[in-house]
Amino acid sequence: MVTIQDYFNSGIIDIALLLSLALNKSHAQLITHYDYQPNNEEKTQLNQLIKQRQSGTPFAYLSGTKGFYHLNFKVTPSTLIPRPETELLIDIVLDLFDENQTYEILDLGTGSGIIAVTISDKNPQWRLTATDFSMDALNIARQNAKTNINFQLGSWFKATPNQTFDLIISNPPYIKQGDPHLNDLGFEPQSALVSGKNGLDDIRTIIDNAPQHLNKKGYLLLEHGFDQQQEIMWLLSHDFFKIKKFKDYNQQNRAILAQIKES
Ligand code: GLN
Repeated sequence: MVTIQDYFNSGIIDIALLLSLALNKSHAQLITHYDYQPNNEEKTQLNQLIKQRQSGTPFAYLSGTKGFYHLNFKVTPSTLIPRPETELLIDIVLDLFDENQTYEILDLGTGSGIIAVTISDKNPQWRLTATDFSMDALNIARQNAKTNINFQLGSWFKATPNQTFDLIISNPPYIKQGDPHLNDLGFEPQSALVSGKNGLDDIRTIIDNAPQHLNKKGYLLLEHGFDQQQEIMWLLSHDFFKIKKFKDYNQQNRAILAQIKES
């Protein structure tokens, strides 16, 4: 006979989380029912999850959810799994803008919607537009929305023709083609991760086109790779000033905020 305790002692990766998911029980319920013997149906379900997890499927794709900031988000293999580093962008925006004023804010390449949905939930007075070139991702983002967000389909600024904003935010793909780090990310959409030879193709497109889509004194906020700060500062220097750099919680360079120059 196999009990919950036997599973706990098995050393199987993420076994506590997988048990919670398969038996629909909280961690506390599991550890207070150590002697419980999962029935056949539960065992089949659990074994299937264990197999998927062992072959590399991230837990978030098995549970279909991931926490970000103060909310839970639906995620599927069409969307990147939210990273804790990206919470830094939320803090920067909440610091930047006056909570009692109204702003037009754009989240480019929203994926599961985390940036737009979180900011809009924190301040429903700000007007959020969120774009993605993937229809599947945009549908997930729509399901994640708690407030009224303007979702638009298209690649970068092709999704927002003739529109201007007070702030443009993006966590674009920024990993180099062939980066060994990608070996661990094979279950996630590569189009949300990889951006050309040096990982800067999409960041360059965004920086080049943002000025046409920014209001006077508007800002651009980007998440980027730990080794891309110098290059991005240089790309920004043509049209932007008042550049501010931010490190993530692991002390890696991770985000950059810049204001459009007065023309
Ligand atoms: N930060 C992610 C990672 O390194 C990459 C996200 C991205 O490319 N925007 O796993």
